[in-house]
Amino acid sequence: MNVTCPTCAAADETVAVREALLDSERALDPPTRELLSMPSEPRSASGCAIALFVLTGLFGVVGLSALRSDDDGGGSSDAAYQFGHRYGLLLVAAVLLGIGLLVHARHRSRQRAATAQWPRTYEQWQRLHQVWRQTRLCRRCHVAFLPAAALRPDSAASAAIPVAQFPQWTTALARQDEHPGAPVTSD
Ligand SMILES: [Zn+2]
Repeated sequence: MNVTCPTCAAADETVAVREALLDSERALDPPTRELLSMPSEPRSASGCAIALFVLTGLFGVVGLSALRSDDDGGGSSDAAYQFGHRYGLLLVAAVLLGIGLLVHARHRSRQRAATAQWPRTYEQWQRLHQVWRQTRLCRRCHVAFLPAAALRPDSAASAAIPVAQFPQWTTALARQDEHPGAPVTSD
C-alpha cells in the first residue's frame, strides 16, 4: 500500500523504509542506507560470559553427581588423587565461574561508559524497531515520514523529515514512550 508523501503529495515514489533497504533493483546509495538502517541489537551480557556460565553449570552438575556416586576413585589410597577425583570438576567449575564473573563485570562497565548511547537495552531497541517499521521513504523528495495512525490509531501523519535527520527523529519518537504514564503492554 502506497502512502502520499507530505512534500510532493504523490504516492508513486513512496515505499516503506524497510522495503527500500531490501530493494536490490533500485538500491539506495550507501550513505542513505546507513542513515535508514536500524542500529544493531544491543546485548545484555557478552556471549563470552554466557558461554563460561554454561560451562560452569555443566562442570558443576557433573562434579556434584560424581560426588554423590559411591565411586571410590578406582581404589587408590593416594589422598591427593582422591581429592582430585572427588572435587576436580567442582574446582574447574569454580574457576570458570570466577572468569565468567570477571568478563561480565568488564562488559557491564564498558556498557556504563556508553550510557549516552540509545538504544542500550533490548526493550529500547524493540521500541525503536516498532517506529522504524512504520517509516516511509519518498524516493523523489529524499524524505522520510510516518503516515497517519502509524504508531497509534489517533496519531497524525508526520511532517517530511530529511533522510539526514532520520536516526535522531526515529530515536526521539521511540523515546516518547519512556515517559511514565505511557501505555505499557503487560503479559
Ligand atoms: Zn515526495
